[in-house]
Amino acid sequence: MGTDWLRDPVLEVLGIEHGFGVRGLAAPAGTLFPVQVHGRRVLDAASAAPATEGGADREADAILASGPGRRVGIVTADCVPILAAARDGGAVVAIHAGWRGLAAGVIEAGIEALRTRSPNGGEVAAVGPAARGCCYEVDAPVAEALAARYASLLPGVLVPGRPGHHRLDLSGLAARVLAGLGLSADRIGRTCMHCTICAPERFESHRRDGAAAGRLRHFVGTSGSTVVQG
Ligand SMILES: [Zn+2]
Repeated sequence: MGTDWLRDPVLEVLGIEHGFGVRGLAAPAGTLFPVQVHGRRVLDAASAAPATEGGADREADAILASGPGRRVGIVTADCVPILAAARDGGAVVAIHAGWRGLAAGVIEAGIEALRTRSPNGGEVAAVGPAARGCCYEVDAPVAEALAARYASLLPGVLVPGRPGHHRLDLSGLAARVLAGLGLSADRIGRTCMHCTICAPERFESHRRDGAAAGRLRHFVGTSGSTVVQG
């Protein structure tokens, strides 16, 4: 593994293997990815088909793993990656949340699934690079979809811009959603919350590069010896 992965201290201090990707990094062998559809379904890696098979049973925007040595991941190009873990490393979840996923409640679904698997509490979550308010303009339907779910969380992360538009800080909103789920500030990692649109040399961005954009890969693993899947 190269040295360019972005790592967050909230996971690092617990020995949770993880990385937020920058351009050109491939996830470690054995990382299982869902087929992302901007919804709120959580896929359990233990019941997933191998990554090469595809298919509707792998359509999900959060992927949960438990048991020793499992790695799961998601890909992004402006949407928010969230990597969360039980403090003992026995269960992890990787969440992909763009504005559609946020409006659908994918972060809540992913954290709830992690809590079900590891009910003793104390989970930690790190928020990764995504489109932020410096660059990311959205129109009224997006603002309305987010307001329908998160009205009280939006001041400061959804800011009025030119007429009919707002600037949206996806990472900032994700961190607020995590706080709303009961994670205290010291259990929410914010050190990798870079803006993907600002930094073409480091990050892929769909907003900046359109269909030509590649994808950033992000992963998190349970503790214990690695089991290569798929
Ligand atoms: Zn920016």
